Amino acid sequence: MTHSKVPFNKPSLVGNEIKYVRDAVRRGQLAGDGTYTERCCKMLQAQFNAPSVLLTHSCTAALEMAAMLCDLQRGDEVIIPSFTFVSTANAVVLRGATPVFVDIHPETLCLDPEAVEAAITPQTKAIFSVHYAGFPADIEFLSTLAKAHDLFLIEDAAQALGSTYKEQQAGTFGDAATFSFHETKNVISGEGGALVVNRPEWVERAEVIREKGTNRSQFFRGAVDKYTWVDVGSSYLPGELIAAFLCAQIEMQDAIRRRRLSVFDMYFEAFESLAQDRQIGMPKLPLNCKGNGHMFYLLMDSLSTRTAFINFMKRHNVMTPFHYVPLHSSPAGRRFGRTFGNLSVTDRISDTLVRLPMFFDLGSDVETVIELATEVLENR
Ligand SMILES: *Cc1c(COP(=O)(O)O)cnc(C)c1O
Repeated sequence: MTHSKVPFNKPSLVGNEIKYVRDAVRRGQLAGDGTYTERCCKMLQAQFNAPSVLLTHSCTAALEMAAMLCDLQRGDEVIIPSFTFVSTANAVVLRGATPVFVDIHPETLCLDPEAVEAAITPQTKAIFSVHYAGFPADIEFLSTLAKAHDLFLIEDAAQALGSTYKEQQAGTFGDAATFSFHETKNVISGEGGALVVNRPEWVERAEVIREKGTNRSQFFRGAVDKYTWVDVGSSYLPGELIAAFLCAQIEMQDAIRRRRLSVFDMYFEAFESLAQDRQIGMPKLPLNCKGNGHMFYLLMDSLSTRTAFINFMKRHNVMTPFHYVPLHSSPAGRRFGRTFGNLSVTDRISDTLVRLPMFFDLGSDVETVIELATEVLENR
């Protein structure tokens, strides 16, 4: 074995992170909503051209805020994919509403638009759509569908920072969108997130919910003369050290995306002929989207070939994890949610998908991964 361990993910410094963190300390405010939070918000607001962008301590927090803004109540239903991270569902359950698990489309691994349409009932209040692997594949259709049925549309764009659909940024189609800056995402601050509020009527309430249900933000702007408890809320803001780190990362967002896309392209070219021979599956590039290089995955033909693949790679010191355990069949999913139809695509994908290492400083290790993966795939 000539190479050292290739992890699945490794966080990197890409610019002025340390300088900004020091500066934040020097400025003497470590609590949230200082200079660096404002700088992050300005950049993101320009990117999304949104009425409001609020930093949060995670995408999970931003999803909870979105669920509060939708005013979800007991008895309400929210359509979500079963093939997603638990936070998409928890946000709904925390409001006492019911997540309705719908299948994904086999080519996009995002919500299957036809299944979504069929799953709408008089109780449906919102669609929480996930841009899997950073591809907002059917967002225009879902947006039209949501409008036609008077439903809220929330984009869980945790993986989709900088992705576009018909040249329009992911995160600008829904009533609100949520992003993650967790260390496994493209732009990182350890833990971190943002809520993009596209619906003007929600701007003020979103600030209140984020500030423990108080009108503190309005008070500091001089819009009200005392600061008090006005609505339900929690503490969703990150501290300034996180914002300072994040600020440096957001400044380098384009370079990060380019670097990851070049890795994505190398993987894509390396496995294209195997995919054409139908030996394996890999991401289909939706014609209307530009991805952000968040993730590269392969699809094996069965659970046992995937297990063999992962074990082989691990023996050669390359980490290739899988996800997600479907929510509809998980203990909490069965308890809190409802399943629409048969989720055979979700079940199949969750058994056969494997993710290849993808991070800013992967460098020439990408060749090691390709060599090993090719070896195991060709010798089956
Ligand atoms: C990462 C992720 C989240 C959670 O993000 P956090 O910032 O860790 O809370 C939610 N949804 C999806 C689709 C994700 O990929």
